Amino acid sequence: MPIYFTSHGAAGTVTGSKHLIEVQSNGRMFRVLLDCGMFQGEAVRDARHDPNREFGFDPREIDVLVMSHAHIDHSGLVPRLVAEGFNGPIWSTPATRDLCAIMLADSAHIQEYDHAYDLKRARKRGRQPEYEEPLYTKDDVPPALELFQTAVYGEPVLIGPGITLTYTDTGHILGSAAVHLDIENDGRMLRFTFTGDVGRYVDRLLPEPAPFRQADVIVCESTYGDRDHAPVKESEEELLRHVMDVCVNGGGKLLIPAFSIGKTQEILYTLNSLSNEGRLPRVPVFVDSPLAISATEVSRTHSTLFREDVRAELAQDPDLFTFPGVEFVRSPDRSKQLNGVKQPAIIIAASGMMEAGRIRHHLRNELDDRANAVLVVGFCAPGTLGAQLIEGAAEVNIFGDIIPVRARILRMDFYSAHADRGELVRYLECQETSKVHRTFLVHGVERGFAGLRERLTAQGFANITVPKRGQRFEL
Ligand SMILES: [Zn+2]
Repeated sequence: MPIYFTSHGAAGTVTGSKHLIEVQSNGRMFRVLLDCGMFQGEAVRDARHDPNREFGFDPREIDVLVMSHAHIDHSGLVPRLVAEGFNGPIWSTPATRDLCAIMLADSAHIQEYDHAYDLKRARKRGRQPEYEEPLYTKDDVPPALELFQTAVYGEPVLIGPGITLTYTDTGHILGSAAVHLDIENDGRMLRFTFTGDVGRYVDRLLPEPAPFRQADVIVCESTYGDRDHAPVKESEEELLRHVMDVCVNGGGKLLIPAFSIGKTQEILYTLNSLSNEGRLPRVPVFVDSPLAISATEVSRTHSTLFREDVRAELAQDPDLFTFPGVEFVRSPDRSKQLNGVKQPAIIIAASGMMEAGRIRHHLRNELDDRANAVLVVGFCAPGTLGAQLIEGAAEVNIFGDIIPVRARILRMDFYSAHADRGELVRYLECQETSKVHRTFLVHGVERGFAGLRERLTAQGFANITVPKRGQRFEL
């Protein structure tokens, strides 16, 4: 009986992660969806119709959803999937479930807010809005959360007829996992692996990506398939250098757009280390993101997932994310106050690609000042505001205002939560390449695919494919 694989997102792009496994069994098709992520950036802007409103399959026909991790480009459409009739179990690790609870509520708020804005704008111009309803609302979130079931790393669970799921830690963000499905079908065993997003071998907080059992088919992410990151120790010094340069010597604000989950905690952990060593200058640090604050709390409750040496530090410093001078800003009023303050400060706010969240308000207020700097610490998908700044845009459009870019745009790669090319190759070194029949490269752009394909081919992997959205393969 055939088994099929189809990518419905993160196929030739970095967002919208959604992959479908179909297993013919007892006269019917059993469907496992891997991730249910939202398309972001140019994937949405350049499309004629919002790709987030067309799954490419019928949600009512999906039997099980298996999550790799909580990032919105992997989880953001879960409430819509459920609203459109999906009613099966949603498997995830416990930390992913806890993070999804705060992420999806936040995302629903953004959907409602953005939609209200679109409606207002359409009305002002005397036009019909493109869509009558937001993608989903906060009422769609609780029914989705009720469907979650959890599995811890390394413990197999039966999720369908002859289909066993085992998670392994990828060290990408708290709770992140590679998905391993052992599919027994008609006396044949197919060992399928979806890497999800792979973390780093140098991560400060989380353990290294764990090796995994031999696979027949691998679906591998390729975000940084074309590059290698800077070494770690230099990066810690680099962060300190930027703080000294911008805030202490230049008297400016250092804006750090950061993913609420993962990146923000990594930065706080590093600033906390510098503070413990007495090396952090007295500059106020604001974490201006309610979601990041909640995510930091979730990180504290799941501290058993930290690296061993980090867990040992907890004995000396029970809170690795808090230090003198840091303020966690929840209220919108306090956030607005920060705009008026003309004094050196470090402001960490979401979103990482600068497409949403409070960082946009700070950018609108601070980009035109030469004393300030924006420190880009993560991947920005093409077309996002973050990508425009990296590419050296002289001016940008924020909330309909044209803002001249006079602030410096700085970049640091260490805080990438994604493995680089060398690390992806190292991650797959646990595999005997001759036994892997087929490898699919997803979650990347053309450069990344080409770079990684070259290295994996040299490593002995054959039959490497970059699937197109909706292209169905028999495994
Ligand atoms: Zn991710």
